[in-house]
Amino acid sequence: MEQPGVGRINSNENENASEKKKMSEEFESNTIMESLIDMPLATLDIKEEFGITDVAHKNKESSKGNEQVRKDKRKKRKKKDYQPNYFLSIPITNKEITTGIKKLQNAIIEQDKRLAKTMSRDGSFHITLLVMQLLNEDEVNIGIDTLLELKPLIEEILQGKHLTLPFQGVDTFESQVGFVKLEEGDHIKQLLEIAEVAKRTFQEKGILAGEDRSYNPHLTFMKLSKASWLRKKGVKKINPKLYEKFINHRFGEEMVYRIDLCSMLKEKQSNGYYHCDSSVVIGDKNGSEPDDAELVRLSKRLVENAVLKAVQQYLEETQNKNKPGDGNSVKTEEADRNGTENNIRK
Ligand code: AMP
Repeated sequence: MEQPGVGRINSNENENASEKKKMSEEFESNTIMESLIDMPLATLDIKEEFGITDVAHKNKESSKGNEQVRKDKRKKRKKKDYQPNYFLSIPITNKEITTGIKKLQNAIIEQDKRLAKTMSRDGSFHITLLVMQLLNEDEVNIGIDTLLELKPLIEEILQGKHLTLPFQGVDTFESQVGFVKLEEGDHIKQLLEIAEVAKRTFQEKGILAGEDRSYNPHLTFMKLSKASWLRKKGVKKINPKLYEKFINHRFGEEMVYRIDLCSMLKEKQSNGYYHCDSSVVIGDKNGSEPDDAELVRLSKRLVENAVLKAVQQYLEETQNKNKPGDGNSVKTEEADRNGTENNIRK
């Protein structure tokens, strides 16, 4: 029995050629999509995350079995490749709050000295708004631009008002991460809304951002989860007795004035806070004029960059000078003097 279509293809050469072309295009398209899945940034994962569908590809994908295999493959790759290394941070700097946290930490350490190493360091207190993965300089630059775009969206949510966060009480995530809680109230709704807009804005830029679990804003003061050596010694949980005196303690209020794009992995600043690649001031009345702390931070970074450049240049010049038979030593010394002076002036 003749298979439907086979006779038709054999009987018409033009149709045969166009069918072949179509098949080859389809094969090419599938191959490209498969190789995209294998890319480090897993473009398809981003699409799936945002519900962006590739209609042309979807229509061509006829087999449900293949679709499932592809989805499983993506899921596996997504879990494997997505390792957040950056986050949006709201710094917590109100002295009343940080002093209260220090007292809480000391009270815990007094009961169990082994827990000292699990405490969050002075200057590092923050609320994480969003975690994300920025794998290279280009992606960090996209992150910096996106944070700037996010500023007016946050200010729209706040409608010209300040966002004040009151902290009261203590809790843990699965007895592993100790945190100070936010009081109930409208500020939580606003914070959730800001976190959602931030996640959407970063994802729309192609950044892998967010987590599977729902966002639960908190102010971490200790992480047992990071101290594997204590687990081996039998300290497996944060005992609620350790913080019972602070269970309803009012720690104070923080007015949100800045959001930072911070690295989880880069060396922290000398003040204990995370390395930041960018910051936006929220709700500043006089446009983008930075406050004193911001100015100090900016000028510190300028000086650091200038010194780094000068040292780099000096090392390069010295290496060149030491090359045998180079014949450049007089010129290099001159260039070195000028170059170094220029860099310091910048
Ligand atoms: P940080 O974001 O620096 O305050 O760190 C909080 C820690 O708690 C991280 O190790 C998170 O993985 C963990 N964490 C955050 N949210 C949750 C949650 N909803 N459930 C369990 N652990 C969480």
